[in-house]
Amino acid sequence: MSMTYYINVYGCQMNFHDSEIISGILESEGFSSTEDPESADVILLVSCAVREHAETRVLGRLSHLGGSSRDRESGKPLMVLCGCVAQEHGDSLLERFRDLDLVVGPDCYRDLPRLISESVRMSAVDFREGDYTGIEPVRMEFPRAFVTIMRGCENFCSYCIVPYVRGREHSRKSDAVISEVTALSEGGYGEITLLGQNVNSYHDGDTSFPLLLRKVASAAPCSRIKFVTSHPKDLGMETVEVMASEQNICRYFHLPFQSGSDVILKRMNRGYTAGEYLQRIGMLRDTMPDIVLSTDVIAGFPGESEEDFQKTIDLLEEVRFDNAFLFKYSERSGTAACSFENSVPEEKRLARLNRLQQIQRRITVEKSGELLGRTLRILITGPAKKPRQQAGRTEGNRMVILEETAFTPGSFVNVKITKADGWTHFGEPCGNPEN
Ligand code: SAH
Ligand code: SF4
Repeated sequence: MSMTYYINVYGCQMNFHDSEIISGILESEGFSSTEDPESADVILLVSCAVREHAETRVLGRLSHLGGSSRDRESGKPLMVLCGCVAQEHGDSLLERFRDLDLVVGPDCYRDLPRLISESVRMSAVDFREGDYTGIEPVRMEFPRAFVTIMRGCENFCSYCIVPYVRGREHSRKSDAVISEVTALSEGGYGEITLLGQNVNSYHDGDTSFPLLLRKVASAAPCSRIKFVTSHPKDLGMETVEVMASEQNICRYFHLPFQSGSDVILKRMNRGYTAGEYLQRIGMLRDTMPDIVLSTDVIAGFPGESEEDFQKTIDLLEEVRFDNAFLFKYSERSGTAACSFENSVPEEKRLARLNRLQQIQRRITVEKSGELLGRTLRILITGPAKKPRQQAGRTEGNRMVILEETAFTPGSFVNVKITKADGWTHFGEPCGNPEN
């Protein structure tokens, strides 16, 4: 009988897609998935280390699953920790968690079937140059798919652990990216998102990011194309021009600004000023006035004064993002910012985060109200939570609920927005979309 595995993922889209790759590697070796950790032969947790909270959550789950699992004689499942926390702590996790069997970092997933069959407690956390080309990911989100275009990061923003746990930046071959995209498009995937920590620095020979984007757009003419994440320091006009000229690239841009203060941005090692950031936003909006914008912000970075924080608020109010991912600063050991003086007390970080959340909630609701009565093209993603409802996504990623419809997932439908309350909207199918 084949072995069963249960997989649970924490963190960003990169980790989510890595879990699809892990499933692909295991299933090609005869494993089959199960939703029930209690009956699984192997339990895999794909962990995130970007903030302390994410790390604590996955380690908590590990202790819980370890404690509740069957004893070794009666066939205790093999416990495997994958992802960024695995890479960060390596072997020491095996000492800390006696129920843990394997610790496997993001570059070593190809070894999983062998490590599982050998069943020796160990860690595999080397950095390797290769990628996962050739592996058929088990995709979990039809009609939406992720395609990795690069792995690693070497920007070393002073607060960030990613360069330490994901290794040097390396781009995938553009031919491999294009053939994966072509296959997805032929398979009816309506939305394809290109993934990398800093997609703007993609490079394969003469193929830079704007050129790759153009090739992807023509390889998948019936799919929507998106990409994350862009870094303001590397975003150039060429990318914006490609977006504007290719109809199937979403008018959606995620551009983290992190802080509105130049002093803090410099200490974060971000490589741009608030003025330069706003210039990029201007470039996007001048070229595509209806573009949907989202961002990431950190509150309470070491040395952030009231004045610095006010500049972050000002930037949030000035740009009026459609959505913002707001975080309070979290110390990550080994990063440069860990040794910075004047750390902001925890309560103040939290108070500042709450303040930003309040402001953004108001803006998000206001922006969502602006969609009332408009006709938008949505991608049908599948059933919604309640019976007889379907869900879909706008080009700008907002969820739209339809009542009593039976469209095929993966199809595009024109919908008039009838109700809006923040990020979720209700709509009715109708005629042509707005231009
Ligand atoms: N490569 C992407 C995403 C990195 S991680 C980028 O550069 O934008 C996603 C977000 O987590 C970051 O944009 C940042 O806002 C946040 N983040 C990273 N490290 C953090 C830390 N130590 N504390 C709080 N937030 C952090
Ligand atoms: Fe982290 Fe900066 Fe790299 Fe993003 S660009 S992953 S924030 S180091």
